[in-house]
Amino acid sequence: MLKDSELIRYSRHLLLDDLGAHGQAKLKKAKVLIIGMGGLGSPASLYLAAAGVGSLTICDFDSLELSNLQRQIAYQSDEIGSAKVTLMQQRLKKLNPEISVRCIANKMEEPQFNLELLLADLVLDCTDNMPTRQLINRVCFNGKVPLIVGAAIRFEGHLSFFDHKDPDAACYHCYAPSSVDPQLNCSNSGVLGAVVGVMGSLQALEAIKIIVGIESTVKNKLKLFDGKTLQWQSFTINKDPNCQVCGKK
Ligand SMILES: [Zn+2]
Repeated sequence: MLKDSELIRYSRHLLLDDLGAHGQAKLKKAKVLIIGMGGLGSPASLYLAAAGVGSLTICDFDSLELSNLQRQIAYQSDEIGSAKVTLMQQRLKKLNPEISVRCIANKMEEPQFNLELLLADLVLDCTDNMPTRQLINRVCFNGKVPLIVGAAIRFEGHLSFFDHKDPDAACYHCYAPSSVDPQLNCSNSGVLGAVVGVMGSLQALEAIKIIVGIESTVKNKLKLFDGKTLQWQSFTINKDPNCQVCGKK
């Protein structure tokens, strides 16, 4: 049941046939874990908080640096040196006091991750390195928690959804079997801030759709966004029967 203040706050959602009061109640009950409070995590967290996702857990162990501000739009110049996760918690609570926001300020290893997944309906991977992506995929697969992966480099964005509740679904490791960081990354190749913002916003959009029960069109897909031409390419990610994570062992 939504309070009067929530009926006003979410009035533009309530007008949507596909969302309405029923969908808003689902958002209020939802528990989402967002890992990485950088360029993807900034818009993803802000949109999910604004949308009324009732329980957000945000995870990051970095402090804000000057070079982050070109794309990590949740933060301010006078906040450099502070822990991002603390800054983000304050920002989200100011944006929407109706929701709960919990912080994880350390780098999670597998045992802690497994415990956190018991409290999560959905995970957003907003990180920027391959070993962490592989760890997140593995624990989400083992815990049967759906995972939305976003990435961006230069003018290009990637978006995928892995439904770990579905035993026939592919996983991130089926698509990217290597745990080694690619030679190209944002630190040495650069990235346009607005492209990261697009991809983080789309992670939030897909999360909202999945929570309220609107079919995701990125399940088992790699969607590639070209920020120069605004064109999309879509590739199916097939389940690898020999995958070390989701294949038959
Ligand atoms: Zn797999």
